[in-house]
Amino acid sequence: MPAFDTAQLQQLRSALAQREAELLQGLHGAQREQLGAEPLDGSHEVIDPTELAYRHEQQEIDDDEATREHGELRTVRAALARMDEGSYGECIDCGIDIPFARLQAQPAALRCVPCQEKAEQGRQNA
Ligand SMILES: [Zn+2]
Repeated sequence: MPAFDTAQLQQLRSALAQREAELLQGLHGAQREQLGAEPLDGSHEVIDPTELAYRHEQQEIDDDEATREHGELRTVRAALARMDEGSYGECIDCGIDIPFARLQAQPAALRCVPCQEKAEQGRQNA
């Protein structure tokens, strides 16, 4: 783990905690219905096909957003867990210490910049 001082760690931890709170608020607000145990697709109500198509479209948009926010929430929580473990700030791919400036901009970053770029390229090509 990089040798951050206490003030730096505190700053990153509070940034992560704040982001976690924001994400939770967003998920509880706009995507409230997505958090229920029952998926919307599992409902048995009878809807005419036009309405169904519209709802489906809306749901896909919501899903995209919710998926992104859930993904970020997972990343933020993983970063907090890594902080507790003592592995926070190490690139998960190459293991080097991620510079403090990068973590300041993106407290939940899991990779150094070159590895992040590689990972994003891999996703695009997949
Ligand atoms: Zn790396």
